Amino acid sequence: MLQTAIHYFLHFIFIGAIAYWYDREHWGRNWLILLATMLVDVDHLLASPIFHPDRCSIGHHLLHSVYVIPIYFIGAAFLKKSLLKLVFIGLAFHMVTDFIDCLWMASECESCSLSDFFF
Ligand SMILES: [Zn+2]
Repeated sequence: MLQTAIHYFLHFIFIGAIAYWYDREHWGRNWLILLATMLVDVDHLLASPIFHPDRCSIGHHLLHSVYVIPIYFIGAAFLKKSLLKLVFIGLAFHMVTDFIDCLWMASECESCSLSDFFF
């Protein structure tokens, strides 16, 4: 319950603080842009089942793969301040949020190793 609350708090509420930090004059628009980066979860539609509460997204879904995630962080770190940079910040933070969820799941599974959750 706490895990789920924190996960969705980070996905939907905390990004408001990121939006404000990024550009306080346009924080509302920025928040909407960060919310739109949730569309990265469209890759879940390719999985079966589409939603599984005990599945780690990182490394399982195409847009959450270790091949794509570095692009999000590179864009967030090195693009000039722009809406595109904000999109990459949103994507990178999304991956951080999902990663926290994976670590939480792994910590509660006594018979699992971290490799069961990643890759
Ligand atoms: Zn995700």
